[in-house]
Amino acid sequence: MRSQSWKRWESRAGVRGASRQHVRWAVRGVISAVQRFFLPLGEFIFPPVCVACDSYLATDEQYVCEACWRAMRTLQSSDSLYRETRDRLRGMGHVDDLFSCFAFDREGPLQVVLHRLKYEGITALGEELGVRLGKHVASLAHFHAPVMIVPVPLHHAKQRERGYNQSVSICTGMTRIIPAGVFPGLLIRRRYTLSQTTLRREERRLNVLNAFALNPRYHVPLDNRTVVLVDDVITTGATIDGCASILLAHGAQRVIACSVALAP
Ligand SMILES: [Zn+2]
Repeated sequence: MRSQSWKRWESRAGVRGASRQHVRWAVRGVISAVQRFFLPLGEFIFPPVCVACDSYLATDEQYVCEACWRAMRTLQSSDSLYRETRDRLRGMGHVDDLFSCFAFDREGPLQVVLHRLKYEGITALGEELGVRLGKHVASLAHFHAPVMIVPVPLHHAKQRERGYNQSVSICTGMTRIIPAGVFPGLLIRRRYTLSQTTLRREERRLNVLNAFALNPRYHVPLDNRTVVLVDDVITTGATIDGCASILLAHGAQRVIACSVALAP
């Protein structure tokens, strides 16, 4: 008798549990339908704006408006900033060539775009910059050996604090144009280097000396590989040269430096 009433209670409780589950599913379904219904309305009320100038984007624009792209100074191979940086990098002895899209102008739209990529985690913005950089590189360079795309690493403490490495998203964008793999963990930054922006040229070189190493847990042979080494902005080139020296010491055939921008 007692066991039968227990079974009846158990069965009613089971029904109630199943009902609650169905209610949960139904509520979730209604919420997602409402979200889908209101998404276009959200875009209507809050239309997407340019990350650099806040003007409304046209339907074929993403993140950055065409006027801001046009306001960025593109680097020609005859540009003195490009020639001086490439010559300096080659003079350091580890980088074979340099490709870079824009001159970094303080207060310009590119500074805002790179700042938001770096500190707000808009990785799609990095991919868009990577596509543009990839097109620039592909129009000028011909690769005969297998290519590896390697981002300049952040120190693990900085990466943990920021949550990601902005150069990785630039590399990802580049692979849409250049058929190559991205190797984000290949290099490691051993020392938490000082911010390069406040240092003089010689101090920057000393700052990155022995700062980089090949990740001992990464077993990728570099023999006869062309490595495309990617940073967001190259200034003196000390960081890129520090990374390139490690790659060559471990068998890479040559290192090509690439960046979205060059800063004087
Ligand atoms: Zn804009």
